[in-house]
Amino acid sequence: MIAAQLLAYYFTELKDDQVKKIDKYLYSMRFSDETLHDIKCRFRRELENGLGRDTHTTATVKMLPTFVRSIPDGSEKGDFLALDLGGSNFRILRVKVTQDKKQPVQMESLVYETPEDIIHGSGTQLFDHVAECLGDFMEKQKIKDKKLPVGFTFSFPCAQTKLDEAVLVTWTKKFKVSGVEGMDVVKLLNKAIKKRGVSTGTNACYMEELRHIDLVEGDEGRMCINTEWGAFGDDGSLEDLRTEFDREIDRGSLNPGKQLFEKMASGMFMGELVRLILVKMAKEGLLFEGRITPELLTKGKIETKHVSENIHNFIILTRLGVEPSQEDCVAVQHVCTIVSFRSANLIAATLGGILTRLKDNKGVARLRTTVGIDGSMYKMHPQYARRLHKTVRRLVPDSDVRFLLSESGSAKGAAMVTAVAYRLADQTRQIAQTLAEFRLSKAQLLEVKKRMRTEIENGLGKKTHDSATVKMLPTYVRSTPDGTENGDFLALDLGGTNFRVLLVKIRSGKRRTVEMHNKIYAIPIEVMQGTGEELFDHIVHCISDFLDYMGMKSARLPLGFTFSFPCHQKSLDAGILVNWTKGFKCTDCEGEDVVELLREGIKRKEEFDLDVVAVVNDTVGTMMTCAYEEPTCEVGLIAGTGSNACYMEEMRNIETVEGNEGRMCVNMEWGAFGDNGCLDDIRTQYDCAVDENSLNEGKQRYEKMCSGMYLGEIVRNILIDLTKRGFLFRGKISETLKTRGIFETKFLSQIESDRLALLQVRAILQQLGLDSTCDDSIIVKEVCSTVSLRAAQICGAGMAGVVDKIRENRGLDHLDVTVGVDGTLYKLHPHFSRIFHQTVKELAPKCNVNFLLSEDGSGKGAALITAVGCRQRAQEAQQAAQQA
Ligand code: ADP
Ligand code: MG
Repeated sequence: MIAAQLLAYYFTELKDDQVKKIDKYLYSMRFSDETLHDIKCRFRRELENGLGRDTHTTATVKMLPTFVRSIPDGSEKGDFLALDLGGSNFRILRVKVTQDKKQPVQMESLVYETPEDIIHGSGTQLFDHVAECLGDFMEKQKIKDKKLPVGFTFSFPCAQTKLDEAVLVTWTKKFKVSGVEGMDVVKLLNKAIKKRGVSTGTNACYMEELRHIDLVEGDEGRMCINTEWGAFGDDGSLEDLRTEFDREIDRGSLNPGKQLFEKMASGMFMGELVRLILVKMAKEGLLFEGRITPELLTKGKIETKHVSENIHNFIILTRLGVEPSQEDCVAVQHVCTIVSFRSANLIAATLGGILTRLKDNKGVARLRTTVGIDGSMYKMHPQYARRLHKTVRRLVPDSDVRFLLSESGSAKGAAMVTAVAYRLADQTRQIAQTLAEFRLSKAQLLEVKKRMRTEIENGLGKKTHDSATVKMLPTYVRSTPDGTENGDFLALDLGGTNFRVLLVKIRSGKRRTVEMHNKIYAIPIEVMQGTGEELFDHIVHCISDFLDYMGMKSARLPLGFTFSFPCHQKSLDAGILVNWTKGFKCTDCEGEDVVELLREGIKRKEEFDLDVVAVVNDTVGTMMTCAYEEPTCEVGLIAGTGSNACYMEEMRNIETVEGNEGRMCVNMEWGAFGDNGCLDDIRTQYDCAVDENSLNEGKQRYEKMCSGMYLGEIVRNILIDLTKRGFLFRGKISETLKTRGIFETKFLSQIESDRLALLQVRAILQQLGLDSTCDDSIIVKEVCSTVSLRAAQICGAGMAGVVDKIRENRGLDHLDVTVGVDGTLYKLHPHFSRIFHQTVKELAPKCNVNFLLSEDGSGKGAALITAVGCRQRAQEAQQAAQQA
């Protein structure tokens, strides 16, 4: 009893003494927390360099994207083959991924020797060998004819441009195969497999670096980045921390100067590090009584597994022939601990760098994440894992980091990822198929242009007009402004998002000026969809308020009424509403003269009097404002809540109005294009759904494909469908997504902005109440841009039809013309106007079309038309007086 105690006492003493000595000796391998923090910061910097557009090429830590954007979501299933090349063994696995909760992944695997001459041989030899082993494996598994997809874990730094392509940057570890660096290893592998006549499903390869700690799965679905942190320090940034032993290892390696961090931290070099330390200590007489044996001097004699299996080191040391004393054994054990702890510390510091970045990215006070870890050191060496966890938690406070042992190694990872890749590829294909319906070819767009032309002719023709869908309404605006317009005018703007009352002061002369005052009034939805009398009472009430506000109740001003709905006009100051569009639906108005309804409202109010001179469509107002600045402007376009256009047509072509002289502006009301079914071949199920849910089913079909009020709704309908099919929002259709109108077109503009990172797209969706992953936001963005692209293109096709008509009207080979444009969709969407211009140019090559943004066409334009109308009226009165 006493003896045992004594012995224990003696042993501890001895141990402490030895430990202290070695601690001192290997002082430079032991890092303080301060140093670790410093390494963490250095790595964070490197990592950001690797990710940066301008710094990436020169960065040592390459941060290669893996193109794996999702971690498995549980819906993977299938039968896969996985090749695992780059670890200590070359393994081939068959992985069955099922949705069985208890045993989701079943594996069978075989290890194949990779002979030395192949490791140092040619690329062809290597890949032929791989293919041969694969053939053998498939034969043994009796799956020779099964064409299973192959996942490929290739644990070397590769630059990936897509999921199934990986260009080897440089060999590391034991490998030094010629003719492979700079090549796409997937291609090489596929070639070899083909040559060997092995039948596999192709294009399923996936490269992944699964070394010590690899999958930093930040959260749901962000692209997994292969940091290739092994190269950390290759630019000298770790010089102060490298020891003479690290330098010696590097000198003796196949790739001196490369992968310096890997050589300090990776399990692969740990045995060597320990051996070199032991040699030096023995030389200095600190160990083995100075005995140095040939075995001890032999490279590779101490393996990494020996470092982790401390317990047996007496046997190991004996095998090295150094006849260790008890004291030596304790000392060697402590050396092993220091070397492995340094590795754990280094890994913890770099991991800490990644985690702090993740934390900053997410902008959370507390980071919750899971780190998947693989690697034999981590698995075999219990202290190693504990040390790593503790240090990470110390270096990244305010975090809950969970460590998940990646159970069956990298090959399972490869198969899982292959499964994910398959799921993604299939999903991508189906989504692409869905969106393909929206992608119109040039031939289709030319067809849209042609049909628009046909509808234009129908609308203008006397016999065809009644049944025409594109009504081509005469506006009685016969000329654009000439600069002599003068006076004070009132204008009303009804039919856009807001209702406005304006006072416009136009001054002619050398210095033409237009001064405007306006007030915006809301039109409550119950008024928009109430009775006509209520609507016009509300309008008159607003005018009254405005006149009070301006202090001009008594002046009887001429008024232009911008009324942006299709109206049949028999004169400038009379407009019979054909039908309501956009969000309006008042009773007792369709078929009535809206000017008369306004006059009646003014009478009912009995407060003031006005002279309603003109009823104006906003497209016409837009054209007129632009024409006031630019005389070649003879076309007007609105791309806002709705979509419409007008242009100067030859009187002889307007069969619905008497007279053949000169021109008149025609309000096309092109939004109704397609209402006779002529666009049905390009309308999708989503367009039909939007139509069915609208206030005016079956009407304004073209407008519903290309204007601000509907684009968001089309997007929402597509998103609902994709969610139903399980491609989005984890297959769950939220209440938000079911809500009509939540997806306003302004969100399309935001989401499609080029300056936006995916995280910001996600933030927008979050703001909308749509809980999304990064994958979701990629898809949503694509849906948005597809829908707006088509909108801009078909709008451009319509416009091409219009300008070509004008050109032909005038018998010109070439036409220069300006289009005045208004509308928030056109003005604020990041791509709409560009694509629209481009389409017009492509589809009407004989026209040189300029585009001019209108400034307040509905207000200023209405006043200008009123001024022109007043002038006309004065002329007519004069003529009548002369005749009498
Ligand atoms: P209106 O056509 O009603 O006279 P606007 O030209 O201002 O008025 O268009 C308003 C419409 O523009 C909205 O109904 C909406 O559909 C769309 N819109 C609003 N903001 C944006 C934006 N940022 N990007 C694209 N479209 C927008
Ligand atoms: Mg408007």
